[in-house]
Amino acid sequence: MSADAEYIYKEALARIEKADAEGLRGAEVEYLGRKGKLTQLLRTLGELPAAKRAPAGKRLNEIKVELEDAVAARKTQLGGEDSVGWVDMTEPPPAKFRQPIGHIHPVSQVLEDIENVFLSMGFEIIDGPEVETDWYNFEALNIPPQHPARDMQDTFYLEGGQVLRTHTSPMQIRYATDHKPPIRIIAPGKVYRSENEDASHSWSFHQVEGLVVDTDTTLTDLHGTLLAMMRGTLGDKTEVRLRPSFFPYTEPSVEMDATCPRCGGSGCVVCAGTGWLEMGGAGMVHPRVLRNVGLDPEKYQGFAFGFGPERIAMIKYDITDVRDFWRPRISFLEQF
Ligand SMILES: [Zn+2]
Repeated sequence: MSADAEYIYKEALARIEKADAEGLRGAEVEYLGRKGKLTQLLRTLGELPAAKRAPAGKRLNEIKVELEDAVAARKTQLGGEDSVGWVDMTEPPPAKFRQPIGHIHPVSQVLEDIENVFLSMGFEIIDGPEVETDWYNFEALNIPPQHPARDMQDTFYLEGGQVLRTHTSPMQIRYATDHKPPIRIIAPGKVYRSENEDASHSWSFHQVEGLVVDTDTTLTDLHGTLLAMMRGTLGDKTEVRLRPSFFPYTEPSVEMDATCPRCGGSGCVVCAGTGWLEMGGAGMVHPRVLRNVGLDPEKYQGFAFGFGPERIAMIKYDITDVRDFWRPRISFLEQF
């Protein structure tokens, strides 16, 4: 058998190397086709004594690969429609070369949803520094040095009196100082607080703050804006209610609750049986804050609001520990 194999190999090789296009197709069928000479030999392997079977099989397969390579090489030499002289760049690579493909992080997804809702309402999305001055982060927002609200937002102070921003509200001040009303902005971004970490607190998280200033802005506009935002992220059936609250930079101030998307407002474990979830804070811009950015509170009013995308993502995707968002665990992220 091995003598047959070597003979067929030399004969086939000689024909392939000199063949024209038609001859090449003929040789391919004659040696490598389903009923070809080499294929026939491969089928007789089983008749050999066990000891000879493995080496004979190995050699026959080597011959098969070499003849296939010779056919391909001759095709390239001859050119024509079977030429392999071009590369399909759109073809996916073999599995062993493929990189795993990631996907968008759940918090980024929520941020994107929020941004789309506000873009559709004509808002501008602004971005700014994470290292802020005390003026922009606190004082301009009506939080003077000894104000107790500073304790609620304790932060990381840097040399020279700068701070890691505790909210994205400083961007409202920066923007309102440089632009004339009407103002319609949201400022999404990372903020920092000196917090002890637990399942619902983290030293860094995202915030989306919004500001609207115009000559005819009311609390009703604020309610409608928040309702559009919550429906855009938690679903069309969501309702929003406002409760009185306190923030130094708004007057009056409100807490915003949304109906629980899990139970639709009838009460469940997620909303502790109340049907409502606390989603963020808001209010009409304090006259002193308007004056701080050079606007006359007799002429202009505005509203501001702030909320956390992580909280929305936790509710939406049923996540119980906020720290999971930052932990380098691919298995967690792959669920979304
Ligand atoms: Zn519920």
